[in-house]
Amino acid sequence: MFRSTPRKVLVTGGAGFIGSHLVERLLEAGDEVWVVDDLSTGRLANLEAVRSHPSLHLVVDSIMNWPLMDDVVGQVEAVYHLAAAVGVRKIMEEPVATITTNVRGTEIVLDCCHRHGAALFLASTSEIYGKGGERLHEEHDRIMGSTSRRRWAYACTKVLDEFLALAYHQERGLPVVVGRFFNTVGPRQSGQWGMVVPRLVEQALAGDPLTVYGTGEQRRSFLHVDDAVRAVVGLMERKEALGQVYNIGSEAELAILALAERVKGRTGSSSPVQLIPYEQAYGEGFEDMERRQPDTTKLRRLLDWAPTKGIDAIIDEVAADLTARPAVTSAGSSAG
Ligand code: UDP
Repeated sequence: MFRSTPRKVLVTGGAGFIGSHLVERLLEAGDEVWVVDDLSTGRLANLEAVRSHPSLHLVVDSIMNWPLMDDVVGQVEAVYHLAAAVGVRKIMEEPVATITTNVRGTEIVLDCCHRHGAALFLASTSEIYGKGGERLHEEHDRIMGSTSRRRWAYACTKVLDEFLALAYHQERGLPVVVGRFFNTVGPRQSGQWGMVVPRLVEQALAGDPLTVYGTGEQRRSFLHVDDAVRAVVGLMERKEALGQVYNIGSEAELAILALAERVKGRTGSSSPVQLIPYEQAYGEGFEDMERRQPDTTKLRRLLDWAPTKGIDAIIDEVAADLTARPAVTSAGSSAG
């Protein structure tokens, strides 16, 4: 659909965790790539391998800068919108910035895409399913907690983003694809904003206690960022994906306590596992979900796609990355 190689594309949040992997992949495919990133959670170091690539244009600025966005989007055929305030800790600590970045930022991106006729991939998140469950499919009902529980603010911003993107598609013909990321993990992700895999691996490598929140019986499904990026690129090449929403995740579940043991085993760490109550970890107003497992039938039917890397390979890669770059201190974009 959108590919007439080489293309001109924009990745918002391109210096973030998922964004930087996507940028590398698009450059490899021959695209000319613009990145707009304000480095709030992204890092220039994430783009180290491609910094001097002749087809990369890096713009350090905010997606809230409407004239700037208008100018950049006017030069491209497709936009991958990954810039967002992400990470449970960030949402708990900075709710105003989270809400405004995610809502106003996406409004600006959509307006620019519409005026310049650029196709859009919108990064959404499994958070939008709210209190979650098993085999969540794209049409599943959403169950959100009260507005006094600020964790749900993030989910609501992304729900609004999805509604707005789909409205632009239905009412104004904008070519839009929505992808909901489920716990995407891998090299370059940092634990600073709460993400469990880099946090536990970092703790294990340092010989510190592995902090498991709640009972540790809550389960998640982890997908390697390379597999997530392959899905994103594939979706933007298919006409059938237009106006559609897709789960992007692994269906293999793991309890967080079991993850901690796995991390200890893979890293050879003798760190103890420490159970920490949620209030202590995130303060008042926090609610966690017991399960959040995707049904990825829709994605797998459209693309010849399946996850290629399991949790052991993920832990090994994250450990190698943290060992090589121990100074990682900020999170990446849209980890879902
Ligand atoms: N978690 C944990 N220890 C940590 C960070 C997170 O036990 O140091 C838990 C967290 O409470 C949640 C799971 O791990 O149940 C996944 O957390 P993450 O923030 O990575 O993603 P999300 O909550 O968005 O699924």
